Amino acid sequence: MFNEEHNLAPLRWAMVGGGRGSEIGHAHRAAAHRDGLFRLVAGAFDLDAERGREFGTNLGLDPERCYPDYASLFEAEATRDDGIQAVSIATPNSTHHAISLAALKAGLHVICEKPVTFTVAEAEELKAEAQARGLVFGVMYGYSGYQMLHQARAMVQSGELGQVRMVNMQFAHGFHSQPVEQVSSGAKWRTSPAVSGPTYVLGDLGTHIFYAGQFITGLKVERLMCHRQSFVASRAPLEDNAQVLLQYQNGAVGSLWASAVNAGSMHQQKIRVVGEKASIEWWDEYPNQLRYEVQGEPVRILERGMGYLAEGDNAVNSNRIGGGHAEGFFESWANVYHRYALAMQGAEARRNGTGTQHLGLSEQELESLWFPNIDAGIEGVRLLECCVESSDNENRWVAF
Ligand code: NAD
Repeated sequence: MFNEEHNLAPLRWAMVGGGRGSEIGHAHRAAAHRDGLFRLVAGAFDLDAERGREFGTNLGLDPERCYPDYASLFEAEATRDDGIQAVSIATPNSTHHAISLAALKAGLHVICEKPVTFTVAEAEELKAEAQARGLVFGVMYGYSGYQMLHQARAMVQSGELGQVRMVNMQFAHGFHSQPVEQVSSGAKWRTSPAVSGPTYVLGDLGTHIFYAGQFITGLKVERLMCHRQSFVASRAPLEDNAQVLLQYQNGAVGSLWASAVNAGSMHQQKIRVVGEKASIEWWDEYPNQLRYEVQGEPVRILERGMGYLAEGDNAVNSNRIGGGHAEGFFESWANVYHRYALAMQGAEARRNGTGTQHLGLSEQELESLWFPNIDAGIEGVRLLECCVESSDNENRWVAF
């Protein structure tokens, strides 16, 4: 069970981006601070340096440690005895690669937003740099901390569904059914190829539920085909709707629907895994429940925080408040940040040769600690590359 009690010094942590009015900055800070494992001490929060300084000061930071840009943040912090150890990057997509690379070169653990880069080659470069320096690289698939997704993973792995036959994934909201980019800066950059990258909804939404499918089933994608379009025509060449068919190496098949024009829908982020004996289904608007449907039996709704969930798994040990109370988005993010902290503390311990007993984890447990890492980021970018190749070539099947 997670609570705020631990014997670890909080990691000295900074943010790049996530400034005033940003969509996702607050979620990072709320999640990182939740268990007292990170302490925000510095940042380059905003493209507008003065607004960023004022924002950081209002968060309680020393104004001297609210920097005008990421280069001066990394340079100045490296000269301090109490300089930062980790940084989260919550800027628009086009900046992720350069900022992440600079952070790694400055010896910092990195948590970067998704999609982590524009190309697989860039993401592989980040992985190599992190590995060479013994640094942790997390990619912020924040929904992946939901406990019932980990229950789903445990049930697939223990064979309760039998062999997996189908994986249906979707993240299809309706908030951009009209050209809201005319008034919304967040929608504007998301629909601009120079900032968003080669995709819009596939990268913005599809990568989240794709990662859920990957870590729940452990299946490897063999090939895919993608059909994408912009129903709001001015968004072309980027898509506001996409459908992907997938074939997995074990013969299973899958589908992924990403959309921002699913009018009337709030999120519709769902995954259904169908096995030869049973199916499970999860929906992020009801994240504390997991449907478990055994062929020929009444439907069961499994509830978060209950003793019948997978023992010793993330489904149980991420529990914070017990069954019956609602946990949600912020807890999911905090669960991810909690594991980033443990992985970073482990990396620091390795570097200092101090052992890992103080983390309450053996070397082996630390090695197998789950968190969305750079490999998850790379696979997300590979999804996007393959989808673009398929849709640009009359929707042909593309090897993954
Ligand atoms: P946003 O436009 O709302 O905010 C971006 C922030 O970054 C702003 O404060 C801006 O001033 C700042 N910024 C931009 N460039 C900067 C730079 N070079 N240096 C310092 N600050 C800079 O964007 P957002 O919606 O918060 O998205 C940011 C990232 O987070 C994107 O990659 C997006 O895909 C991702 N995101 C992820 C989730 C999730 O669930 N994990 C949700 C929303 C957004």
